[in-house]
Amino acid sequence: RSNAEKFEFQAEVSRLMDIIINSLYSNKDIFLRELISNASDALDKIRFLSLTDKEILGEGDNTKLEIQIKLDKEKKILSIRDRGIGMTKEDLIKNLGTIAKSGTSAFVEKMQSSGDLNLIGQFGVGFYSVYLVSDYVEVISKHNDDKQYVWESKADGSFAISEDTWNEPLGRGTEIRLHLRDEAKEYLEEDKLKDLVKKYSEFINFPIYLWASKEVEIEVPKDEDEASEEEETSETSTSDDEEKEETDEEDTEKKTETKKVKETTYEWELLNNVKAIWLRSPKEVTDEEYTKFYQSLAKDFGEDKPLAWSHFTAEGDVEFKAVLFVPPKAPHDLYESYYNSNKSNLKLYVRRVFISDEFDELLPKYLSFLKGLVDSDTLPLNVSREMLQQHSSLKTIKKKLIRKALDMIRRIADEDPDESTGKEKTDADKTGDDDEKRGQYTKFWNEFGKSIKLGIIEDATNRNRLAKLLRFESTKSDGKLTSLDQYISRMKAGQKDIFYITGTSKEQLEKSPFLERLTKKNYEVIFFTDPVDEYLMQYLMDYEDKKFQNVSKEGLTLGKDAKSKDLKESFKDLTKWWKDVLSADNIDSVKISNRLANSPCVVVTSKYGWSANMERIMQSQTL
Ligand code: ADP
Ligand code: MG
Repeated sequence: RSNAEKFEFQAEVSRLMDIIINSLYSNKDIFLRELISNASDALDKIRFLSLTDKEILGEGDNTKLEIQIKLDKEKKILSIRDRGIGMTKEDLIKNLGTIAKSGTSAFVEKMQSSGDLNLIGQFGVGFYSVYLVSDYVEVISKHNDDKQYVWESKADGSFAISEDTWNEPLGRGTEIRLHLRDEAKEYLEEDKLKDLVKKYSEFINFPIYLWASKEVEIEVPKDEDEASEEEETSETSTSDDEEKEETDEEDTEKKTETKKVKETTYEWELLNNVKAIWLRSPKEVTDEEYTKFYQSLAKDFGEDKPLAWSHFTAEGDVEFKAVLFVPPKAPHDLYESYYNSNKSNLKLYVRRVFISDEFDELLPKYLSFLKGLVDSDTLPLNVSREMLQQHSSLKTIKKKLIRKALDMIRRIADEDPDESTGKEKTDADKTGDDDEKRGQYTKFWNEFGKSIKLGIIEDATNRNRLAKLLRFESTKSDGKLTSLDQYISRMKAGQKDIFYITGTSKEQLEKSPFLERLTKKNYEVIFFTDPVDEYLMQYLMDYEDKKFQNVSKEGLTLGKDAKSKDLKESFKDLTKWWKDVLSADNIDSVKISNRLANSPCVVVTSKYGWSANMERIMQSQTL
């Protein structure tokens, strides 16, 4: 085309496209839900803008917020069209090729090591999945602020952009035309597309239409003479009852003289049920529907179901509905971006209208691994995002969400038969349901345990609730995870403190001289081996009125030894000699203690100083 401008794809994007084109991945279906999801995002954006500027939607067909799918069997083109926000020329250049997103290289890496293309949407590069099924793609787009443009690429390292002077004007929005490869012919079948929308895009909040064919049988006269005769009779029929009867008779007679032929007509067929799932009563929504809803919300179409969900309505001063999910797996960048972003994964709606999915005020950082949505009736609709962010009811919403989220997490543990303490379950109690829930909390802990620890550090209000969710290994946990409640239930009579020790690994800690005497006396000691545990224990001072005692620090008391006074006296010379030898710069004091069983001596940290492990961590951070 004479007015086309050529652009090179950004290098990582180009690599990604190569991988997609050459992929042997069999589930090529995924491109459709990615395109529908993009269309839905674009519709959300224009609807949001229209809240504060009614004009923006325009008029006529432009006001229809919907998605349309059309097939051209002859030309082998599948097109998906939305009346969303559209893209300016600059948007097309940036969004579809020249700017790599943070997920691009992460996804490329993942794909090179036996990756699952199914997760492409989570990495923010879903659009490129079109090349699973097409060898040539056109994106026609019209944004309110610009002319209509065509982006096109054969995925050969470059793309072209031209001002669109030949297609029909879109009004506003985007049409993606996929020129399907021969192997992808199945996507020209209407039934296939209907199935896919049902399977993956059922919970899209805009109507999705398919330009669907319909076979209708129509009657046509056998020849022209009869046709003109029929016309005549219909014209001559009068309002007179008697005569009408006659005409009816005549009609039935005529039927023998017509023939039936099949004809194909087309009409827009609605493929999804647009009623929002969160407005339905939780009792009416099946587990399968929640799972599907989670998948489309989180763009997580992996094999695993969400670990838990909570669907509730909050009433009172601040009214809202919410659905929260615990994903089956942590996203690839959960802790990577933890300290420099506030990214919440909740979508905020106000009275059914999508407002934002970048609303930090809904959940604290440590719960950012949750997915879900909040639909509020209390928040105002026609104000800017900035003003919404200041709104006083957000605090109340946040508080309730945290409470519900922690309840939901606790429920994973409560329903997990591996977790139950005290009462042993009989065989009769172990239902099939139990098996499904078995081990779920360990799974949760392995994926998101660090978030709970960060919560204990950051959220003083909920510290105790979070501490309940804490899991760790100990000298008595037998290689399994155990909880503070379980620890307390095993405490020895007269034991006041909860004992713990920190270090790099359980194996290293098991050999620690600090444990000798405690194990000998049958005290349980918690192993904290994650670097974050050191920080955690600076915030977690007590639990259920029991203090935490680091066994490598000063202050450990295991009950008074009757002989200790005598011993102190008789070893006075030795302790004095030691102190002189090591000098006061290096140590505080040398003491006789009852901590040890076999080792002759041990270096103990002062109560308020860093533990040896903390020293190690700090050193590794400054180096
Ligand atoms: P993501 O949807 O996660 O952002 P994609 O690769 O699916 O990633 O899409 C890339 C970008 O292209 C989108 O963020 C959006 O800006 C733009 N885009 C894609 N499809 C459309 C569309 N139908 N309408 C408007 N913009 C779109
Ligand atoms: Mg997308």
